Amino acid sequence: MIDFREVRPGVHLVTLDVENTNVVLLADERGAMLVDTGSSKEAGAEIRTQVSATIDVPLTHVVLTHGHWDHSFGLSAFDDLTILAQENTAMDLSCAENSHRAAQDGFDLSGIPEPTTTIANIGFVDLGDFPVELAHFGQAHSRSDLIVGLPGRDILIVGDLVDSAPPQFDETSSLKGWVTALDSLYSLLKPDTVVIPGHGDLLGPPEVAHFRSGLAAIWDQSEWAYNQGIPLEKVYDHDNLQWPWDRPTAENAIRVGYRDLS
Ligand SMILES: [Zn+2]
Repeated sequence: MIDFREVRPGVHLVTLDVENTNVVLLADERGAMLVDTGSSKEAGAEIRTQVSATIDVPLTHVVLTHGHWDHSFGLSAFDDLTILAQENTAMDLSCAENSHRAAQDGFDLSGIPEPTTTIANIGFVDLGDFPVELAHFGQAHSRSDLIVGLPGRDILIVGDLVDSAPPQFDETSSLKGWVTALDSLYSLLKPDTVVIPGHGDLLGPPEVAHFRSGLAAIWDQSEWAYNQGIPLEKVYDHDNLQWPWDRPTAENAIRVGYRDLS
């Protein structure tokens, strides 16, 4: 049983058991928008039931923070609504990790509804008292990252652009782009901005800065090593280089950085 809790007026959050994925419900007197949909058709249906139990207004919009399975596979429970997503979402929905996950769960990827509205860089939705801004800062954690901002409310919903756990990389990621995207994101933060990440606890500007400096350290050292001609498999253990997070995370990040550079 999932339960939304109101973290700010009109901003309801539930953290799901699967991967501690956050789903956010934005609601005012006139309309409501859901941000992310859970990791399966059943999860999506359960979220929808809970949305109806939590608010009195109809849910009209759904937005995906990106196309990875743990955020998007519940989308089929919302196929009668306005679905907003970054324009690369279709490409990310068919990424290797999603295909692997779908095969494992017996989930039909082709059953995920297409977005009704795609966003290249900037989008805006007027929910009534609740203007919502959407922004894409380029390929970063994925090719389809969208952040959701609520002007005047000092809340940013950032998907997996920021994580309370180590960053996740796959073929949809760019290390260089991620550092750049976090620079853009950081410029939007005020001291008391609440950052809702794709997974885990609420964060603030210091955690975003910390996460960004970890990625920037890996990017800077990867670029140096690449320009020195150091082979990828020797970068991690190279003398005098030190890496944030754990070894598998750093090695994944270095691999993505080398791909950005090649
Ligand atoms: Zn993700």
